[in-house]
Amino acid sequence: ADPAAAPPRDNKKDPKGRRPLVTPAPEAAQETMIQAEHDVLESGFCVSVHFATGRRPPPGEEGRGDWRSGIVMRAYKAQVNDEQIYDIMMADGKEEKAVNHSRCRMVCYVCLSDKRAFRPPPMFCEKCFAAIHQRWSYWEEGGDEGGLKLCKRCFSDIKGAPNPNKMLADLAHRTNLQIDTFIEKKEKDRPEYVDSWVQCDECHSWMHWTCGLYKGEDTSDECLFFCDNCRLTRGKALAAELTVPPSSDLPEDVLSKRLQNNLRKELKELSVQCSAVTIRVVSNVDSVTKFEPAQQPGSGGPIKLSSAITGLKTFPYRSKCILA
Ligand SMILES: [Zn+2]
Ligand SMILES: [Zn+2]
Ligand SMILES: [Zn+2]
Repeated sequence: ADPAAAPPRDNKKDPKGRRPLVTPAPEAAQETMIQAEHDVLESGFCVSVHFATGRRPPPGEEGRGDWRSGIVMRAYKAQVNDEQIYDIMMADGKEEKAVNHSRCRMVCYVCLSDKRAFRPPPMFCEKCFAAIHQRWSYWEEGGDEGGLKLCKRCFSDIKGAPNPNKMLADLAHRTNLQIDTFIEKKEKDRPEYVDSWVQCDECHSWMHWTCGLYKGEDTSDECLFFCDNCRLTRGKALAAELTVPPSSDLPEDVLSKRLQNNLRKELKELSVQCSAVTIRVVSNVDSVTKFEPAQQPGSGGPIKLSSAITGLKTFPYRSKCILA
């Protein structure tokens, strides 16, 4: 493979280098074609290969079929039309010869998927505190950053009130809010939360940051990254900045000690052979739920509480995250 056409492996901060394979449409503009050159795969890359089933799809469409994973063994240009093609060792042990670039997409060497999407963080109406369902539309103050979010009902309540901007100021403790600048947004307007890519500097495999436990966002480009396979089998070691400490380094508390000891004892009694299980309480947050009058206990709302705490407008609780 032509090294100039490879993804920029030495520049982890270049977002181009982290992008998974993009297949240009047949009528793609020159710009896209140049871009696609950078996505040429190298030998050793994990790929997903499309195997069409049924009728030939119309040009530019993927058509039916399935995706199977493999590893690029050789990357070269076809003699007839100069197209980028690959010999690929499939996961089932069969080798596919001269697979066209357009049938391949780069996948993560750890999870074998291309895009790793995260569930977007939950969103709440800042007036009634109700969770805004992902598929509902909602209203958000204008501007690039966004900001105050309101559910549909609260937005129309405020808009219909005699002094909407005063209500907004009271809600947000800011005076510059104008109800007329709010924009109705839908799920598709929410930013997509997807993982970035990083390449191993030894075997050149690409993986998602979370899959490779990569935390080098702020490290210099000279700081090399090695995948766990190269660390285990090729004697490579990560720089101190990139080393992820083991979970057993996290501080213990009474609850985690108790859980961990009991679980280890139980596993031993069941004769389960495994390395020591670590349990830690990683967050411990005191929080308060607020009630709107309609939801207040005793007023027919959906939440029923014992009579001792009726009449409260807030309900305190503690939330813990415990990981094993
Ligand atoms: Zn992955
Ligand atoms: Zn609301
Ligand atoms: Zn590696």
